[in-house]
Amino acid sequence: MINKSLKQLGAMLQGKEISSVELTQEFLNRIDRLNPEINAFITLDKDRTLSQARRADEMLSAGKGTALTGLPIGQKDIFVAKGWRTTCGSKMLETFIGPYDADIIERFDAAGAVNLGKTNMDEFAMGSSNETSYFGKVQNPWDRNRVPGGSSGGSAAAVAARLCAAATGTDTGGSIRQPASLCGLSGLKPTYGLASRFGMIAFASSLDQSGPMAKSCEDMALMMNVITGFDKRDSTSLNREKEDYTRALNKPLAGLKVGLPKEYFAEGLGPEVAKVVQEAIVEYKKLGAQIVDISLPNTQLSIPVYYVLAPAEASSNLSRYDGVRYGHRAKEYGDLMDMYCKSRAEGFGAEVKRRILIGTYVLSAGYYDAYYLKAQQIRRLIAQDFENAFKQCDIIMGPTAPSTAFKTGEKADDPVAMYLQDIYTIAVNLAGLPGMSIPAGFAPSEDGKRLPVGLQIIGNYFDEARMLNVGHAYQQVTDWHTQMPEGIE
Ligand code: GLN
Repeated sequence: MINKSLKQLGAMLQGKEISSVELTQEFLNRIDRLNPEINAFITLDKDRTLSQARRADEMLSAGKGTALTGLPIGQKDIFVAKGWRTTCGSKMLETFIGPYDADIIERFDAAGAVNLGKTNMDEFAMGSSNETSYFGKVQNPWDRNRVPGGSSGGSAAAVAARLCAAATGTDTGGSIRQPASLCGLSGLKPTYGLASRFGMIAFASSLDQSGPMAKSCEDMALMMNVITGFDKRDSTSLNREKEDYTRALNKPLAGLKVGLPKEYFAEGLGPEVAKVVQEAIVEYKKLGAQIVDISLPNTQLSIPVYYVLAPAEASSNLSRYDGVRYGHRAKEYGDLMDMYCKSRAEGFGAEVKRRILIGTYVLSAGYYDAYYLKAQQIRRLIAQDFENAFKQCDIIMGPTAPSTAFKTGEKADDPVAMYLQDIYTIAVNLAGLPGMSIPAGFAPSEDGKRLPVGLQIIGNYFDEARMLNVGHAYQQVTDWHTQMPEGIE
């Protein structure tokens, strides 16, 4: 049961083989048993969760069920949910209770899905290993001594350990795709603007986007149908006609032009990852794809550009946590300025402070042109690289991350090594494009563990239905996505 897809579980609910209350209870029991170590969920509210399950059962009995009715979903703790503690992985919001629902929470609610609980994450979504959460690190279910990736590491570990059938994530520079890759899942970051950012705690607003993390592309398509859609409360939300993301799942791939960027297979890519990705490409050739060599010449600039722009936006977004309106306030202080300083010094962790300092610096008078403006110009060039590439191919493929899951603590003291985890994912956010990671196989670790490897699939703007088709076709002829870590039975 625990390894079934959303699609299969949905069919069982519709066919009354199981009730939502029973299904939800089964996952809650697993959370009780496995979460104390894995630490994927940081807030549970069983009464609330079970009352949603009862409501779902009523919807199903009344014949009012949707594809997701009754299915328990883990929600990244970056989404404000009414009545739920919402922390964004920070001490700053340790006791903050959501006064309203984020758009995405409302949408799942309207579909009759069940909120199983809030998942752990790097503090304010800054990180690639889930080691910066105030609520402790998360274990990778494939090897408990390794990181699950970040920042949506709690969601990734929860799905990998089968504590839920699917979860939500957010991706500013890779935070859906990289943990999906490290935990053997499917994860999709939609085109910027497709999913509303209303009620999603802001990190870098021009890059942040929410998306599904699940076992298969088919399940992600069902979730995309819920997540996407216009929201007037988010000024960057796109007013487009609603799409059905399942519509193209079964199209044959014959003639599909797959671009392989040479920069994604150059120095820096771990040989164990390269091998698995190459094997996946061979599989795509068998499915009828045509391989095209392409170049994304500004790839190397994406990390420096991101680490100017994202901290700049973060320094501005995080100025709201001043101890006045909500969030942590220092117990003892002198005047108002002292209250601001102490509250922020106590409430934020080291990585968040580093970003605020960098962001404030690059935006300061005298440096603005040299850093911020320059970075904006290069951002445009990076987007142009993709525009040119998509004249030659339909889809771009490559690795999601340069390595498999690394050991806990291994990169914790070396921010630059940590930032390099996103070398293949960040450009996609800078360009606003959709990107996805799917499980493509395993590589052995030096200590003999099987570690998942992700294949990244990048599409043109609004081409998510095709990306899901491309991923689904592969998942019909491989079984990487159905494999479970040992020891979580
Ligand atoms: N790892 C990147 C960072 O630390 C991306 C995070 C994200 O996508 N939220 O900023």
